[in-house]
Amino acid sequence: FHFPVVTIDGPGGAGKGTLCMLLATHLGWHLLDSGAIYRVLAVAAIKHGTALDDVASLSVLASNLNVSFPIENEQVLIVLDGVNVTDEIRTEATGNLASKVAAYPEVRAALLLRQQSFAQHPGLIADGRDMGTVVFPAAPLKIFLDASAEERARRRQLQLQQKGINVSFDNLLQEIQERDFRDRNRPVAPLKPANDAIIIDSTTMSVDSVFNQVLELVNQRF
Ligand code: C5P
Repeated sequence: FHFPVVTIDGPGGAGKGTLCMLLATHLGWHLLDSGAIYRVLAVAAIKHGTALDDVASLSVLASNLNVSFPIENEQVLIVLDGVNVTDEIRTEATGNLASKVAAYPEVRAALLLRQQSFAQHPGLIADGRDMGTVVFPAAPLKIFLDASAEERARRRQLQLQQKGINVSFDNLLQEIQERDFRDRNRPVAPLKPANDAIIIDSTTMSVDSVFNQVLELVNQRF
């Protein structure tokens, strides 16, 4: 690379989204939210009436996905076929559907170049499951951000409560564990740290201390 690429992988709810947004904003770098692409694909499949096990149609849909990420009021919006789907893609249900379509190698292959095209000057923060292992294996700094499933369910519950949505902790925990299992055990691009990844367990860490630790690594490396 002629400019810095930092990969941040880990399970859902470990705090990658917040961390990556803070880093990209602070550094003035590009941000790739690869999970959002898989989420948008799941929403697009439902809108087009594509069955979630119809791999051929899903791959065509993935190749032609008309998605953009405009920034408005310092927030990244997700726009599919001209429609703002930012809120719609963030539900637990969509996350679960995303992890189903993401398990197909053909679908992943169809989205590879689109993800790699985010690597642009002056730098990139790439958020996902396989950023360090598959999409940017040559990235000079790779982070694997982890947290216990219970803590991730607790954070998610808090986040939902702040939006006025009450859901049971046990249901959330179960959904998180199911999605983890699927992401970790799929044959292609499973969720796992790259060999040269630095593992950070955020279970008992504040957002600030995770941010400061990673920023220090970025400053050391680049
Ligand atoms: O990170 P997020 O929760 O938005 O990701 C949604 C789903 O998309 C994940 O559970 C995972 O199955 C899939 N995903 C993936 N590879 C990535 C990012 C997300 O398979 N790089």
